[in-house]
This record gives sequence, structure tokens and C-alpha cells, in this order.
Amino acid sequence: MASAISHPAVALAVGAVFTKEQLPRRFWLLGAACTLLPDIDVLGMLIGIRYSDMLGHRGITHSAAFAAVLALLFGLPMAARDRSVSKACLISYLFLCTASHGLLDALTDGGLGVAFFAPFSNSRYFLPWRPIPVSPFSPVDFFGPRGITILLRELQWAWLPSLGTALIARLIRHTLAHRRR
Ligand SMILES: [Zn+2]
Repeated sequence: MASAISHPAVALAVGAVFTKEQLPRRFWLLGAACTLLPDIDVLGMLIGIRYSDMLGHRGITHSAAFAAVLALLFGLPMAARDRSVSKACLISYLFLCTASHGLLDALTDGGLGVAFFAPFSNSRYFLPWRPIPVSPFSPVDFFGPRGITILLRELQWAWLPSLGTALIARLIRHTLAHRRR
């Protein structure tokens, strides 16, 4: 996995680029949570589910199908209660936030690949370019020298591109709105 600190960075970029509407803060927080939820599968290891199983790590919870179900599960009731954002916008945003988790994991250099097409296939995939070192499960390793090296690499390949993308999207939107006036 990429670290739990870096996955939510993608929610920032997705929200800024994808949504035309200004999302309320609670939806940004939900989007950030959706970038983290796929790693709930590590709990399965505690009850003996193997990493390589469909229910194992980087299995079904990292798939496009899981992202779609989660987006509908959270998005439909929230959009019904809160009219400040459209249903399609919210569901698409949550889908992209959740799906971004698997894509970021597929950029890492360790572990097994990601089962993007589960439950239809448990084949695991990486992207052709894998610049991010895989984040350790152990807190000792995470806060040690190796963890610091990994965080710096994630800063370079997850945070900075996300922040840059969000700023450019905001700038373009602001410029277009200014011209319409
Ligand atoms: Zn993961």
C-alpha cells in the first residue's frame, strides 16, 4: 500500500478537477475517508484470509466494483438529504476517490498487484511505472528511516502532483468565471 497519509491527497485533486460544484467540507472529508477504506481488507489477515485471496489485501476492496458500490452506498442517501450538491456529482466524486486508492497502490514497487476487476477476476495488476516504495505494515518500520524515505517519495509522487493539479484546476475555473462576468 501507499501510506494512509498519502491516499487522501488524491481526494483533493479529484475534488478540485472533477466537480464543477463547490463541495461542502463534509464531502471532502468523506472523499478522503473513501480513499482509505479499501485498506480495510488488512483486517482479513487477522482472521487468516491470505493476501492473494480475492478477499485478501489489494483484492476486492481495491476493485472498481467496490468503488462503485461504496459510492452508491454513501452517495445516494447523502445526496437525498443534502441538496447542496447533485447526486451524479457526489457519486462520481466518491467513486473516483475510492478507485484512486487502487491506482496509487498499483504505482508501488512491492507486494502483490491490485485486483481491479474483482469479483469477476482475481488477477493482480501493477501500472507499468512504479515509482513509490511500498509502505510497511509495521508502525516501527513506518516511523523509522525507511518510513521517512517512503514518505518523501510519496510527497514527490502523490502529494505534489495532487496539490499542483488542484491549484491548476482552481486557477482555470477562477479565470473562466472571471471572463464570464
Ligand atoms: Zn491499499
